[in-house]
Amino acid sequence: QSFGPEPRDGRRICVCVRKRPLNRQEATREDLDIVTIPSDNVVMVHESKQKVDLTRYLENQTFCFDHAFDDTASNELVYQFTAQPLVESIFRHGMATCFAYGQTGSGKTHTMGGGFSGRDQDCSKGIYAMVVQDVFLLLKTSAYEKLDLKVYGTFFEIYGGKVYDLLNWKKKLQVLEDGNQQIQVVGLQEQEVCCVEDMLNLVELGNSCRTSGQTSVNAHSSRSHAVFQIILKSRGKLHGKFSLVDLAGNERGADTAKANRKRQLEGAEINKSLLALKECIRALGQNKSHTPFRASKLTQVLRDSFIGQNSSTCMIATISPGMASCENTLNTLRYANRVK
Ligand code: ADP
Ligand code: MG
Repeated sequence: QSFGPEPRDGRRICVCVRKRPLNRQEATREDLDIVTIPSDNVVMVHESKQKVDLTRYLENQTFCFDHAFDDTASNELVYQFTAQPLVESIFRHGMATCFAYGQTGSGKTHTMGGGFSGRDQDCSKGIYAMVVQDVFLLLKTSAYEKLDLKVYGTFFEIYGGKVYDLLNWKKKLQVLEDGNQQIQVVGLQEQEVCCVEDMLNLVELGNSCRTSGQTSVNAHSSRSHAVFQIILKSRGKLHGKFSLVDLAGNERGADTAKANRKRQLEGAEINKSLLALKECIRALGQNKSHTPFRASKLTQVLRDSFIGQNSSTCMIATISPGMASCENTLNTLRYANRVK
């Protein structure tokens, strides 16, 4: 059993981009695919202000990342280069985090596998499930069996700067910080699980809670961050943690200009948290002593994951290929470029 490429020479941040295929609506509208992946770490956007024929692009923009996945890449392949190399670290007291970042509809939930929005989605195929599988495989290896670790899961949502427990009927939870800057989400359900299937049932429960009572699946889930955590404990004490975060959609500007006040407030809150996240990841990458985690609820609850020698992060920036999404795609790529 291989657990993917070795950690990148002590680097704690890995940033990848994944392009999804043009979907049927886009194809019907004759939207153009303006994103190419010329090699396994380069993304090119062929920007054009108006619809011109394919040979007449007005401008090209090129970005480099740790990896770039084109629309033929499977979730397994993406997993091998992003979350999988971090899994073993949580058995060595590490804090691992994997973020899916991108515009609504670009493939965050498809990648993480935490949604049932379409018939083609099934949480057994996404990164959530693959991490869970590898955690239980490692748990049974001779190196870690003797640690006598127990596995717990938590699943919560952050919406409008508030935390809601997806394993407890979206109960609203308080976040407290003690004198030692330790953050506690008071009353968060931490459920012990003893096998892969148990944990995936938990994910399924959380997902159904996340999307219940909504007229449109994407309406609310796209405005909130979903955090699924796999926690290892040894004799009741925290040993390691893997947080998998399906971030709120990063779209703004034209998409929200017409929006009502509620939407504007939501948008402002999302912006604030994504900015705070960028700063915290950058601080981690530059080994800065100060991490501005208090700037948002998202970064506050993930504080453990940004500090300490044993923290590592990967970000999967998901992008839509169509010309209609060009501005959002460029925003996503610029953001991802800043955290790498
Ligand atoms: P997001 O969570 O970013 O809003 P979704 O993951 O819900 O986006 O994806 C939107 C739609 O596109 C879904 O129907 C999903 O199945 C499809 N999709 C996304 N990424 C891919 C991909 N890489 N390959 C095939 N279909 C995809
Ligand atoms: Mg989603």
